[in-house]
Amino acid sequence: MIYLHVPFCRSFCTYCDFYSERCARDDGRFDTFVDAIAAEIRSRREEIAACLAAPDNVDTWYIGGGTPSVLPLSVFRRLCGLLGEAAPRGTGEFTVEVNPEDIVEKGPAYVQGLVEAGVNRISMGVQSLDDGILRWMNRRHDAARAAAAFRLLRSFPVDISVDLIFGLPQCSDDLWKETLDRVLNPSGGLRPPEHISAYQLTLEAGSALGVRAAKGQWQEATEEQCRRQYDLLCDALGRAGYRHYEVSNFALPGHEAVHNSAYWRRVPYIGLGPGAHSLLASPDGIPRRRCWNSCQVTDYAREGEILSEEDVRTERIMLGLRTDTGLPEASLRALTAPGAVDRLLASGALAYAGTAPDRRIRIPESHFFTSDAILLELV
Ligand code: SF4
Repeated sequence: MIYLHVPFCRSFCTYCDFYSERCARDDGRFDTFVDAIAAEIRSRREEIAACLAAPDNVDTWYIGGGTPSVLPLSVFRRLCGLLGEAAPRGTGEFTVEVNPEDIVEKGPAYVQGLVEAGVNRISMGVQSLDDGILRWMNRRHDAARAAAAFRLLRSFPVDISVDLIFGLPQCSDDLWKETLDRVLNPSGGLRPPEHISAYQLTLEAGSALGVRAAKGQWQEATEEQCRRQYDLLCDALGRAGYRHYEVSNFALPGHEAVHNSAYWRRVPYIGLGPGAHSLLASPDGIPRRRCWNSCQVTDYAREGEILSEEDVRTERIMLGLRTDTGLPEASLRALTAPGAVDRLLASGALAYAGTAPDRRIRIPESHFFTSDAILLELV
């Protein structure tokens, strides 16, 4: 299970504080970035092999960012060649994050190149289908380009995941409903995306929006508005046949993200590239070594820590209960204080899933919106 971080974006979105560097269309740093990845892979070859040999490893590659689709095809192929040597992949999931404007500008030959490199899942940052909101977000595409990119991707044998953002004060409930309707019913009778990730807008201190908010120039949407829009989302996607399998993620049956689902189970993974994190097993087999690369395009350094028992316990609860399968009842009870689980079961904030002896406990969909508060009571 390999993650690779591409630290380049053509422009910065208002709300984002991910590590990324502004880049030109054909930036000279792309090649030095790949050189740095090659050096990192060389220095971590044994660690990568050990991670891939673990019994619970999943056969996935995920290239995220930043904006991986800014990379020219030749650079992308070089990256895949490096990954293929160090971390051979079978027929498992290979996801690449893209932005609509790159897909439209680069056209079918580019998508064909991604598919030939083995990509079988594309995650596209659409975020909104309202041009005013997209401009406010400082996105480079408009709604027409998002639709054109979707149309183009649909002519290739790839799963499509679409990212959306809700909870903007300037996005009315009607506009949000219309957005969902357009995503679920693409023009031209195309099949809707296999997967949808929908995130509530959050204020990140390091983002342009965070700075504006700190100066009193931005007011967040109310909790009630966010709640209403989350309910509209769950309702529309549920009716359209999507499984709400994680707080922010919905999939048509059989199209759940294999890579991200493994994160939620705390499967060890290797993160390559500037700013990327890894989770590695300790000699006792428990994933408790967390390491991360510093945020420079080249010459990035690796740091790390050993997670304490308490850190591991907290992560298992926080990640496991974000999913619709939750955690095995016995595990959750062992991880939490006596009485805590029963109190939340009695209030409906937790519910049983499955039957004994494999009974599990989850946060029901009706309480996903308040999952942070529920988790806080358990950790
Ligand atoms: S949201 Fe994506 S495209 Fe926008 S700045 Fe962040 S990483 Fe770049």
